[in-house]
Amino acid sequence: MGRVALVTGGTRGIGAACSKALKDAGYNVAASYAGNDDAANAFKAETGIPVFKWDVGDYAACEKGVAAVEAEVGPVEVLVNNAGISRDAMLNKMTPEQWSEVMRTNLDSVFNVTRQVINGMRDRKFGRIISISSINGQQGMLGLSNYCAAKAGMIGFTRTLALEGARKGITANAIAPGYVATELLSGVSEKVMEAIVGQIPVGRLGEAEEVARCVVFLAADEAAWITGSTLTINGGQLAD
Ligand code: NDP
Repeated sequence: MGRVALVTGGTRGIGAACSKALKDAGYNVAASYAGNDDAANAFKAETGIPVFKWDVGDYAACEKGVAAVEAEVGPVEVLVNNAGISRDAMLNKMTPEQWSEVMRTNLDSVFNVTRQVINGMRDRKFGRIISISSINGQQGMLGLSNYCAAKAGMIGFTRTLALEGARKGITANAIAPGYVATELLSGVSEKVMEAIVGQIPVGRLGEAEEVARCVVFLAADEAAWITGSTLTINGGQLAD
């Protein structure tokens, strides 16, 4: 039997690629999502991976959601904190709602979900916690103060979790992808997209599957000595 992996936001985009790659690598995967039932059902039909609907920004919902995953699939050994949104605006126009929606979905979620699995991982002396941060957690970006703050916060969270889990067989790592072709970028205008691609030395957006390869690498039992790191994957855009 393979290890159990939970991918939040695991039904679309980067998360879906992670869910599939982990399944192909032999894991028993559960994928969570927020509300897009059509996408989740299509994903489930295509992959056979069970899907679980709850809001990762809501602590009580995470308690129930992770309990449902563990009852159906088993104790979570690999957690991929992937669910995320963007609500872009320059700070002088950003609303409190845009700020807090991003903070709760992208950063509170990491506490909310990891908190549900950490004691089991400590008891079993094995865990892999992989959080999908962003190049925009490593640098500033116009109009993304909420997103950059949340993504940088994930890196700080990861470094602390690495220390706390170090003697318990638990690793915690972040992945910082550059721009990846998913629906998250669907709101970006063609002109801005051209400028973004123009700044990527490799000359193209990343593929979700390329991020998923990093997740499988960090999830492995053999990756036990990699912890507290941020794996940068961005086509050469930012050296870190
Ligand atoms: P998508 O918009 O394609 O998919 C987002 C996924 O997250 C969906 O499954 C969605 O569920 C789920 N989700 C959103 N909000 C919640 C919530 N409140 N509770 C539970 N699930 C939720 O995003 P991407 O694949 O592009 O992004 C995935 C992660 O990678 C994000 O954290 C993003 O910030 C990060 N990232 C993305 C980059 C990019 O260029 N695309 C670059 C760097 C980082 P549903 O389908 O129900 O809406």
